[in-house]
Amino acid sequence: MDSGLYVVATPIGNLNDLGVRALEVLRGVELIAAEDTRHSQRLLQHYAIDTPLMAYHDHSDERAVRKICACIESGGSVALVSDAGTPLISDPGYRLVRAVQDAGFVVRPIPGACAAVAALSASGLATDRFLFEGFLPARAGARTHRLERLARETATLIFYEAPHRVLECLQAMTTAFGAGREAVLAREVTKTFETIRRGTLEELLAFVEADANQQKGEIVLLVAGARDDTPEVTAAIAGLLQRLARELPAKTAAAVVAEHTGLRKKQLYDLLLELKGK
Ligand code: SAM
Repeated sequence: MDSGLYVVATPIGNLNDLGVRALEVLRGVELIAAEDTRHSQRLLQHYAIDTPLMAYHDHSDERAVRKICACIESGGSVALVSDAGTPLISDPGYRLVRAVQDAGFVVRPIPGACAAVAALSASGLATDRFLFEGFLPARAGARTHRLERLARETATLIFYEAPHRVLECLQAMTTAFGAGREAVLAREVTKTFETIRRGTLEELLAFVEADANQQKGEIVLLVAGARDDTPEVTAAIAGLLQRLARELPAKTAAAVVAEHTGLRKKQLYDLLLELKGK
């Protein structure tokens, strides 16, 4: 095996999703750097792989990086794995990959499962352009802010979400993107209780609310991008909005302009506040 660091994707649920090349690499390297050695041990045992393991995460101290680089420098090879899926995708490895490259060694990907791409491929949403957003902030204020910034994004949006936050996340998405925006809940992908459900945000919210089992396990949420035909806030519209706001309460002015332009009331209201602040 050529010396270097191998970034090896592992299954996200179904152990049979480990590729032949990944198996060869995990058997052939001198060392496997794993996010959680006990977790990865189960996968290795399943395939009777007895390669030595060491712990690596992005908060590991410099000694872990030095140990990996020393192994590669002496002609050896190291595999990096995370608990599931592709390392570095909402998982540790970024610091290590850069350190190994900066030390002049080769980094090779061994592609395989990734929950975001697996969910997207079976979602029924547009796949030509997508934006991977990873985990949203846990705090409600920061999450709302992030979602509002994404409201006009036209690419399909992909989020990872913890099961205990899925309900509040769907509620926040409904407010930010509108109840009628199409979305997909992809839960326990490749596992026994795999669920891939497409509907409007309002429908998905009702589906998850009605069945506590949908608030368990591992979840990817995908949201269709905003439609490109949303009219732009032209200078004329902004002027009209300001003029109306002199005669009417801000909320009513925003509602009247929204009704006649197809723009979102909230967007117009926020614009009014912004213009007033200037
Ligand atoms: N590196 C992984 C990958 O390539 O997908 C992601 C690791 S991240 C720490 C874990 C999150 O990925 C979970 O909270 C969930 O949002 C998503 N995820 C992982 N496995 C999944 C599965 N089988 N079904 C649905 N989502 C999954």
